[in-house]
Amino acid sequence: MKKRQLRNLSFLLGFCLLFFFPCSVWALPVGVHHRHVNSANKIALTFDDGPHPHYTLEILDVLEEYGIHGTFFFVGENVLNYPDAARRVAQGGHEIGNHTYHHVCPDKNNCGAVLREELAQCERAIQQVTDTSPKLFRPPQGNWNEELYTLAREQDYDIVLWNIDTLDWAHTPAEQIAEHVLQRAQSGDIILMHDYHSNGCTTTDALRQMIPALLERGFHFVTVSELLGTK
Ligand SMILES: [Zn+2]
Repeated sequence: MKKRQLRNLSFLLGFCLLFFFPCSVWALPVGVHHRHVNSANKIALTFDDGPHPHYTLEILDVLEEYGIHGTFFFVGENVLNYPDAARRVAQGGHEIGNHTYHHVCPDKNNCGAVLREELAQCERAIQQVTDTSPKLFRPPQGNWNEELYTLAREQDYDIVLWNIDTLDWAHTPAEQIAEHVLQRAQSGDIILMHDYHSNGCTTTDALRQMIPALLERGFHFVTVSELLGTK
């Protein structure tokens, strides 16, 4: 059976399992992750849509204060617009993933060649500015289909979703974000946050509340690749 047929088969199998076993961690196709259960109390913080010339740096300051690493899913055009912020993420030892060049989702206008170019253009921007090659892909809004799955897997990307959404993009108050996370946190979680905001940011304050409380509970913060065991 050809590689592509195998991928299509695993995609179909994943959706069948998703239908019959919606709570199963095995419900997603091969190479798609929304959490990764482990016995080592590992949790991954992820930040989408950056880099941003101000908020990304603020978040990095907090992570560095606690000596922890996060995973940043960059939008390619922001990487070229704010290369200094992108480089500081890379130099700090954080992981960088692909979030498309223009933050596009698959729909009737964005399919096939458009999505392929979005992935490639973002990858080129990340490589050019940070000298790293992303191995993780997060589809904008977590919106993916079989075509995007196949495209990403053909380029050896792992597709990373999340299982805790902080809703920080909606300016959710920091206390509310922290409470939401602290009520749900379990070993293996992938937590969704954002480092690009157009009008104020509660993410940094939420991190200042969440991180010490989770460390006190014995959790360890790792990058997504470390969580998945691929690094
Ligand atoms: Zn996004």
